[in-house]
Amino acid sequence: MSRVSRQVLLWGQENQKKLRDSTICVTGGSILSQYTAAGLAALGIGNIILINNKKISMCSDGEFLIEKNDIGKPKVYSMTRKLKKISPETKIIPLDFPFCGEILDRMSIDLIVDCDVSGHEGKAMKEYSFRRKIPLIRTTKSDTEISVHKESLLRRTSYVSNQCIRPHEAAIAAGFTCDIIRKEYIKLPDDNITKRYFTKFTSIGSSIEYDNKRVLIIGAGALGNFTALCLAQIGAKYIDIIDFDTVDLTNLNRQIMLYDAIGKYKSQVLANRIRQVSRGIHANGIVGRLTKQTRIKDYDIVLGCVDKIKARMDASDLCRKNRIPYIDGATSSLSGDIYTYLPGHSPCIKCQRNLESLLRFEAERTQSGCQAASPSVITPNMIIGSAIANRTTEIFMGVGESQPLRYGSACLSGSRQPEKKQSCGCL
Ligand SMILES: [Zn+2]
Repeated sequence: MSRVSRQVLLWGQENQKKLRDSTICVTGGSILSQYTAAGLAALGIGNIILINNKKISMCSDGEFLIEKNDIGKPKVYSMTRKLKKISPETKIIPLDFPFCGEILDRMSIDLIVDCDVSGHEGKAMKEYSFRRKIPLIRTTKSDTEISVHKESLLRRTSYVSNQCIRPHEAAIAAGFTCDIIRKEYIKLPDDNITKRYFTKFTSIGSSIEYDNKRVLIIGAGALGNFTALCLAQIGAKYIDIIDFDTVDLTNLNRQIMLYDAIGKYKSQVLANRIRQVSRGIHANGIVGRLTKQTRIKDYDIVLGCVDKIKARMDASDLCRKNRIPYIDGATSSLSGDIYTYLPGHSPCIKCQRNLESLLRFEAERTQSGCQAASPSVITPNMIIGSAIANRTTEIFMGVGESQPLRYGSACLSGSRQPEKKQSCGCL
């Protein structure tokens, strides 16, 4: 058993070694750089070089790799300490000066990720990557592009300033980037960058909508980690997180907020960590499960971040009965989706996902002893968790829709979509 066991189940030890032997350079110090570096560390990239010459400012709210008491000190050192906690086996090399080819000449680098969204050093980096024939990945909030060896592959995208990147956009862009990088090292059946699939995503954002809203997150696992982190960054004020489970070593390849906490209750650790990310937040970790006694009416929305069908069903029933909006997220090893219940506008989640048939399927599997841990990777959780946070904002702004949203790293033809059945009376 190791930190990366759950992804080794998907791609094997030999492929994991390719990640461990790699050296990737990440530039910039924004939330986008932080999500990208954290994602790469979580994947088990062996060596990460951080390049950024910015100092930590007073307004570093939401910057989850930064220690608040490091104000005035270089960002890269603070980021290095956090990344070491997320992935102790990764060697982090902090360089607190602008991009400098001469220093990198002495290092063996496989790949450069340019997250410097203001693009000041972009030209130098581009020339450097062509000269040394090192693939360059440039990420903006709207696009991730990759150029390998030939200038002709590079597409021009519009740049945005740091201030314009919203946290959930950064998390989604970083998720895409990490997935593209994984594909550079590890080829899986059906992998196809052009078929990367993300339906109907419209980014939206203002923290004002959160002022008096109370959010309940069910599940403090991988999806719960990114949903809670992103909501804290967006400006949510009141979040309760419920989970009965404790942190296990094999959670840590994707539950990046739960470092240094093996054996502790996930909900309490996660609530504590997001309080450190955002000063204005009231976050509370509840140890237990959702029951009929849960005061569901206290909340304006419920976010399902669970993996068991039974837990999903209980949440759906409780929200339908009390007419509380419910967003249900789900991920598998390389894909994920969200379904939304809007009282009076859409069938409940039990109907939308046909949970009754899935529950029978789950029960059969349990009876036949197929309960082994399934493969699990950080990227779909990063992307779907942030999309849940975005849809929460939409609903609070009154523009939320109930259309399902799906993401797939590869093509989605193999994913199991249950047939819809008649409404149970929920409409
Ligand atoms: Zn229903």
